[in-house]
Amino acid sequence: MSSIIKTKAFVLSKLDFGDTSKIAKFYTEDLGRISGIIKGARSPRSKIGKTVDVLNYVDLVLYKKEGRDLQIVTQADLIAYYPNIKSDLEKLKYASAVFELLLRLTVENDQHRRLFIGVEKILQRMEDETTQPILLFSMFFKFFLEEIGYGLETNKCSVCHKSLLNRGNISYNHEIGLMCKSCSENHLVLFEFSMELFKKMVCLSQRNSKCTYTESELKEIITFFERFLIYHVDEFQGIKSLKIY
Ligand SMILES: [Zn+2]
Repeated sequence: MSSIIKTKAFVLSKLDFGDTSKIAKFYTEDLGRISGIIKGARSPRSKIGKTVDVLNYVDLVLYKKEGRDLQIVTQADLIAYYPNIKSDLEKLKYASAVFELLLRLTVENDQHRRLFIGVEKILQRMEDETTQPILLFSMFFKFFLEEIGYGLETNKCSVCHKSLLNRGNISYNHEIGLMCKSCSENHLVLFEFSMELFKKMVCLSQRNSKCTYTESELKEIITFFERFLIYHVDEFQGIKSLKIY
C-alpha cells in the first residue's frame, strides 16, 4: 500500500545521499519520527533541498509506502524557520537539545500528537520570548519524560508511600526512585535534592507557576533527568548538544 500524505514536520537532521540526493529525519504530526529521501536536493536549483533544513518547521508532502524505511519527499513548504533561535547561541543550544531528544528517544512511525504540539509550543516560545532558554528546555524535558513514559512519581516516597513534601531532603536511586529522608537511610543514594530544589523540579510542569530558578538549579535538574534516562535507555549517553555549545 502506498499513499500521498501531507503532514507538518520538524526537520531533525539532514545528510547527503548519493551524488544528488539528501536524506532527512523528520518529527511529523501524523507519522511521528520518519526518514525521507529528497531526490535532487543537492542541486542549487532545488527548492525543497533548501526548505528542508535542520530546525525548520515545514509542511511536507510525501509518497509513503507501508513497510519502507525511507519515504519519498515530493514537496516541502516553509511554516517557520526560527531566525531568532538560529542567531542566538544560547537559544540554539537548547533548541538543538529538544531536537536531539526527538531524534534519539522517540519511536519511528509512532504518532504522538501531544508531544508534537509540545515541540511546536516550546520552539515558538524560544523564538519569541526573552525567558531563559535553559528554563524553557527544562520545562520541555520534564514534559518529554512524562510523554515517553518515563515520568517520575513525585507525590509519594517509593518505599513508605508517604508524601515526599516537607519531610526533609529527598533522595533518589535508579532501582527505587525517589525516597523520603527516613527511608533513604537504608538505601544507596545517587542523587539528593533539597526540599527547595525538589519543589522547583515539580513546579516545572505547572502552568503559570511563580517559581524562580537560578541557572545552577536548572543545570542540576537537567543533569538529574539525563542520568535518569542514561540508566533507563540503553543507547542513550546524554545530550550532546548541551556539551558541544
Ligand atoms: Zn519513605
